[in-house]
Amino acid sequence: MVSSARGQLDPRDVGDPRPAHAGRHDQHPALVALAPLALEAKGAGRRRVVHAPAACSRRVCGATTCRNRPLRYPVGMPEGPEIRRAADRVAHAVVDQPLQAVTFAFERLAEYQEVLSASRVLAVDTHGKAMLTRFSCGLTVYSHNQLYGRWMVGAADREPATRRSLRFAIVAQRRAARLYSASEIAVLPDEDVELDPRIARLGPDALHESTTAKLVAARLRSREFSGRQLGALLLDQGFVAGLGNYLRSDILHRSKVHPRRHPRDLAPAKIRALARNIVELPRRSYETGGITNEPRRVEAMRKAGVSRRELRHLAFHRAGRPCYACGDVIERIELSRAVFVCPSCQPEVTA
Ligand SMILES: [Zn+2]
Repeated sequence: MVSSARGQLDPRDVGDPRPAHAGRHDQHPALVALAPLALEAKGAGRRRVVHAPAACSRRVCGATTCRNRPLRYPVGMPEGPEIRRAADRVAHAVVDQPLQAVTFAFERLAEYQEVLSASRVLAVDTHGKAMLTRFSCGLTVYSHNQLYGRWMVGAADREPATRRSLRFAIVAQRRAARLYSASEIAVLPDEDVELDPRIARLGPDALHESTTAKLVAARLRSREFSGRQLGALLLDQGFVAGLGNYLRSDILHRSKVHPRRHPRDLAPAKIRALARNIVELPRRSYETGGITNEPRRVEAMRKAGVSRRELRHLAFHRAGRPCYACGDVIERIELSRAVFVCPSCQPEVTA
């Protein structure tokens, strides 16, 4: 399992309240920041100019082709890096602390409250999007946030002001970790955790140090996975656990591979690039609090005043925006959920 990290960015630092429309159409900050960096791109000479629609107004434009519309991220399921950061916050609040109470909202779990309350939390592990809270009494609480679950960490004696339903609480002496809205919660004896179907079906954790690019490349080449379409494969938690929709788009974009392609049809160098990005981007996102864009570019864009929302991703939810590598326009396609691709960097068929 992945160990906790300290001293990283605050995981609560999500979103950026500042409007993306900070300048005139032809002076959009993301593009101002992009200009010097575009020089790095190969084939910059064949860049297409992205025109804002004539009807575009900074306040009301929602056209998906408008380069100046504010980027919007719909509520999505937290991915491995977000769950790992939540686990770090929970661990920081309750590990090795005497507990006041451990409570569940579900009648079926009430029998465990007393024994858990009398023990201590030893560790908070994650495997993909599953969280495993290990107690000293030999029990582990499995939880999965799904789409709506949310951990809140705060004072033991004061519940956060929220209309959400409290489902699981670990209350220590000073601090408490409370899980709201999630319904997938189970208590398992330690020895049954790895055998439980919810864990046993998972592939290697994208963030675990034993999950190397070499291991992922071998899985891509394997009979089990090489014939699968990559867009679906990367969301399959049995392939690599912890990848979700934003990581899928950005891994494929950075690897310059179209989501409709299959591993068996890719050149060895592409398989290696894909495998490398499957392990690198989740780790980058964990360390940066959800930013998958290149660190050097992010730094330059921040200096130029570009909002976090604008600089956050390589391709995800950037439809209509210029590709950072070649300047072509990022497109949105539907493959069970939205995937964002550059038609030049990620051709669907090779010539
Ligand atoms: Zn491109």
